[in-house]
Amino acid sequence: MNPVLRSLLNLQEVDRDIFKVESELERLPKELAQRVEALELRKVQLDEKRGEVMELRAAIKEIEHATVGMRQRLKKLEHESSTGTADAALIASYQHEMRNIKRNTSQAEDDGLKRVARADQIEEEIVALEKQLLDDHEAHQEFEKNVGAETAAAQAKLAELQADRGTRSAEGIPPASLEVYRGLLKTRDGEALAELGDGLCEGCFVNLPKNIVVRLARGTELVQCPSCDRILYNY
Ligand SMILES: [Zn+2]
Repeated sequence: MNPVLRSLLNLQEVDRDIFKVESELERLPKELAQRVEALELRKVQLDEKRGEVMELRAAIKEIEHATVGMRQRLKKLEHESSTGTADAALIASYQHEMRNIKRNTSQAEDDGLKRVARADQIEEEIVALEKQLLDDHEAHQEFEKNVGAETAAAQAKLAELQADRGTRSAEGIPPASLEVYRGLLKTRDGEALAELGDGLCEGCFVNLPKNIVVRLARGTELVQCPSCDRILYNY
């Protein structure tokens, strides 16, 4: 086998695992951050609902206050109309105002009832959200703990792999080939090399043209799969 290829295969043995562990070390904090974001979003939703209920309750209070005032005015007008001191024109004007007050009171009461129902409904939603948030928070703490343990394990594993990697020499590999190899590690999920087996690239399972097989058999150059670009090898 081409000695450069042999050296690359030797690096690939450990670089594959380094790639996996490094990917995990990238993924874990991202996952944690996503969960924190989701939790924050729930808190914001909860605060919004609390704010909405407060506004509704304030509006209901105002409506109650206004209807009390209107009823008092109605009572006064009823009294004025019944004492017999007012003339017909004044009584007609009282009656007109009383009809308006009754209509406005009734509308205000309907409006108030609708707001009460809406506020009650949101309060139910708040209770459910609070419970959900509590559960989420607990689950999150558990998750955070696991991520911490997984990260520590991955870091220890990475140190071990890097120590192993340090014992493997890249000497004799031309810089350009090493660059191609490193690029492929990134783009091909840690598998920069692929075995050529029975005319097939074992990396992407594409049938290879005969000239590729011949060039590889000659052993004088690095040959890449025309489909997935991986550096081909065979024994
Ligand atoms: Zn391929």
